[in-house]
Amino acid sequence: MKLILLGAPGAGKGTVAKLLTKMDGSVQISTGDILRGAVAAGTELGKKAQAAMKAGDLVSDDLIMGIMEERLKEDDCKAGYLLDGFPRTIPQAEALKVLLEKMGEKLDFAVSIEVPTEVILDRLTTRRTCTGCGEIYNVKSNPPKVEGVCDKCGEPVVQREDETEEAINNRLSVYNEQTAPLIGFYENEGMLLKVDATSSDAVIDAIQAKLGK
Ligand code: AMP
Repeated sequence: MKLILLGAPGAGKGTVAKLLTKMDGSVQISTGDILRGAVAAGTELGKKAQAAMKAGDLVSDDLIMGIMEERLKEDDCKAGYLLDGFPRTIPQAEALKVLLEKMGEKLDFAVSIEVPTEVILDRLTTRRTCTGCGEIYNVKSNPPKVEGVCDKCGEPVVQREDETEEAINNRLSVYNEQTAPLIGFYENEGMLLKVDATSSDAVIDAIQAKLGK
């Protein structure tokens, strides 16, 4: 399957993407994970992205499109992909449309995962992320077996640098101003699936139903 996952930070895009990869071998493509990897490795890309990320602002559309043009050409994308955290602005959505046309690719649809703000805030402050494989934990509902250590890869599990109260508030307003308009964009394209759901299983069920599986 080839899907775009839309939703505020903390809506569950990453969790849903990880569950979907197990169904048909589609790969999760998270621009946030790619950028965090680049920051940790100290590459040129990481240096360019670091300040905006820490503040909860968006990285430039040009930088993101450069990453995605390369990423979508990789072999593992042939089995399908789940775009998690991309596109995030109207210019990115338009550039993606042109890129996919050029590549002769067609997406199935875009899923908008809608979760109430109070649930989002609670999740983001209690979320912890593995620095090695990106696995997502929650200190209240889903802690790692050993505190601070990833069950899957053994690397440290930490609170993200952009999960301070200030950065979270900024990320939510950036989402409302720059990313939420994509819901209307994909509705106009006739390719939107809206799901009101706080459980990732309910989101998966809705996606499977729309795919006709
Ligand atoms: P995420 O893990 O998806 O919440 O992304 C973390 C941070 O990476 C965001 O707050 C942005 O600073 C940056 N980022 C990730 N994806 C994008 C994108 N598509 N466009 C611009 N910035 C992005």
